[in-house]
Amino acid sequence: MVPELVGKLTGLGYDVLVEPGAGAQAEFADDEYVEAGAKVSDSALADADVVVAVQPLDAANLGRLGAGTAVISFLPVNTEQELVVRLRDAGVTSFAMELVPRISRAQSMDALSSQALVAGYRCAIVAAGLLRRFFPLNMTAAGTVQPAQVVVLGAGVAGLQAIATAKRLGAVVQAYDVRAAAAEEIRSMGAKAIDLKLETLEGAGGYAREMTEDRAKRQMEALAPYIADADALITTAAVPGRQAPLLVTSAMVEAMKPGSVVVDLAAETGGNVEGSVAGKVVKIGGAQVWGGANVPSQMPGPASKLYAQNIVNILTLMTTPGEDGGAAEFTPDFEDEIVAGSAVTHDGRIVHEPTREAIEGPAHDQEADQ
Ligand code: NAD
Repeated sequence: MVPELVGKLTGLGYDVLVEPGAGAQAEFADDEYVEAGAKVSDSALADADVVVAVQPLDAANLGRLGAGTAVISFLPVNTEQELVVRLRDAGVTSFAMELVPRISRAQSMDALSSQALVAGYRCAIVAAGLLRRFFPLNMTAAGTVQPAQVVVLGAGVAGLQAIATAKRLGAVVQAYDVRAAAAEEIRSMGAKAIDLKLETLEGAGGYAREMTEDRAKRQMEALAPYIADADALITTAAVPGRQAPLLVTSAMVEAMKPGSVVVDLAAETGGNVEGSVAGKVVKIGGAQVWGGANVPSQMPGPASKLYAQNIVNILTLMTTPGEDGGAAEFTPDFEDEIVAGSAVTHDGRIVHEPTREAIEGPAHDQEADQ
């Protein structure tokens, strides 16, 4: 939560408790929360009916919650199965921001998009910062300096923002994505859409599908000359629920010019670039390869503000506001598509079916038994 939005929650009729130092890393002081109408309290977690957080609560914090507490946070259900079991067994009602359905009504609650926007911008700025040359064309009395050539792989929310930012800095940008719709989106950002003459890969819900080994190999071969020519390569490709696809081998990076820069936003989830390390800059051939680690947190102010707005919007959906200054009631309607879609545990059960099945096995079909 950011101080600026505390008033939205008190306006609904909530008392807002903030853990001491909760905003420190984003430069929000405890006093600012108090001025905005919140109470800074050591027992915030234990006293809460609803907890809103960025990362999932760890075991120690989970142990401080009262029974029946609700938690809204990021919660990667594929990799945090132990935590899901703990939430179930503690009787906590949990909602995962990653699972908010990407329907128009939920756009203002879409934290994946808001954080991808921050991360995509940051990627382009990091690439520009690491590259020891201009992004824009410079025509001066002393001669002309050619603009940097930037290649972006993956043109979802983060990739499009990286393209837009690199363009604003004056680079010549080319981009590739496996989804057919992406080419037009790339062009609308003023970049050139790379056409590899390969089949497109659309999956469910407007997302990409995983590549076959053969498709991945052909994509690498076709991309290699574009990457070899690039001064900066930015990779943002992801497939929901899977490891990030490997798009660029270390041999492809070694073929880049000395002094080139690679920014791999997917380093934390397996990496689009072979050899990238999350949170580090490593040298591969003559290129510096930057691996992203919790990239939105590198711009904590805007990332927090956008995330807090997403949280306020989803919490408002789940709230019956207090009348005439009365207390708000947390009343999530599990018939609502957004509430049902994002719920992970409730009433001692795992209610997100794919996660339940992954943890508890297939549902026992009593009708089939009869
Ligand atoms: P994402 O983070 O899952 O993936 C990033 C990009 O990587 C995607 O564009 C994907 O196509 C691409 N990719 C996957 N495999 C690739 C490969 N092998 N090579 C190159 N690129 C590859 O995706 P995202 O940014 O969250 O969004 C994906 C789609 O969802 C987009 O069409 C976006 O416009 C749409 N979207 C819709 C809503 C909404 O309706 N509310 C909100 C956000 C995004």
